[in-house]
Amino acid sequence: MKPVNLESIISSINMGLIVVDSDGNILLWNDWVVKHSEIPKNQALAAKIETVFQDAPSPAFLSALRSALTYGLPVVLSNALHRSPLALYVSSEKHIKKVRMHLAIAITPLPIAHGKACCLIQISDSSTSIKREKMLRSHSEILKRDATTDSLTGIYNRRFFDEHYKMALGQAARQKLPLSVFMIDIDFFKEYNDYYGHPTGDKTLIKVANALKAQLSRSTDVVARYGGEEFILMLPNMPEEHAMSFAHRLRLAIWDMAIPHLKSRISQQISVSIGVSTYDERGESHKHLLVDAADAALYKAKQSGRNQTYYAPLCEFKETTDDA
Ligand code: GH3
Ligand code: MG
Ligand code: MG
Repeated sequence: MKPVNLESIISSINMGLIVVDSDGNILLWNDWVVKHSEIPKNQALAAKIETVFQDAPSPAFLSALRSALTYGLPVVLSNALHRSPLALYVSSEKHIKKVRMHLAIAITPLPIAHGKACCLIQISDSSTSIKREKMLRSHSEILKRDATTDSLTGIYNRRFFDEHYKMALGQAARQKLPLSVFMIDIDFFKEYNDYYGHPTGDKTLIKVANALKAQLSRSTDVVARYGGEEFILMLPNMPEEHAMSFAHRLRLAIWDMAIPHLKSRISQQISVSIGVSTYDERGESHKHLLVDAADAALYKAKQSGRNQTYYAPLCEFKETTDDA
């Protein structure tokens, strides 16, 4: 059996190998480097690493090389910080314009040769791993977005609301600030669907969601689709005395769109009923009931004739149980 030829390994390995001495003289320049630098071996072996490329190596690379040679310690250049420290190109016939390769570089000191310190520079193409990383990141962003938004209306879904509501309520209690919750339900929407058809119903849900969203101004305000034709809003730092006038604005925002609803039993257009409740320091012992209070207020608004707003004070709200 023939012994393994080291030279053939060096020339066929799928990564760049360069060896330089402490003066920067190039002692090894493998085929991979020839291919991606377009600098032939004989030209490189007569040159120095600082000057061999038409575009000089990056200062970060040269300083890493110097410190590896001076202290005899290996150095890795992070490709997140240094994308393309050496003028090496992605080689492809299709590339009319030369594209710099994203590189991962490791510099390893070698045993001293002819009285001089030497370094092995290992280079690999990190473009594919960067691309893969980007793809995975964008996939996970899509998944995250899908998990928190409602696919029909594009606003947040109930799951997102429940999580953020818990955090916002905790924060309101710690900072001793109020938090108002609004439950909004479209009136006689079953009749609307039955008469205008489900696709028109969907379009109306989108319009209502957008109109509610347009009323929010702070980044901490949240609107979510809570159920079929039911929406919920949470406004941190909105006290009781402002909550009713804000609810009135919400109701008018929907009313003013004047979406015809000939089968509504209270008007000729789409309307909503709204239930409101506010947490503040007085309702500390009831704070876990805030959404229930807003829901009970919504029920009252429906019972009182719909197309109106009802407020349920949290501190007076009593938990109801089925076995009562
Ligand atoms: P109320 O005034 O008491 O709220 O009456 P309502 O008819 O609005 O209430 P109900 O709960 O009886 O009906 C809600 C309807 O909402 C039932 C369903 O047809 C409709 N709905 C729920 N989700 C969707 C949806 O995603 N798309 C469409 N188009 N309709 C939906
Ligand atoms: Mg309804
Ligand atoms: Mg409903």
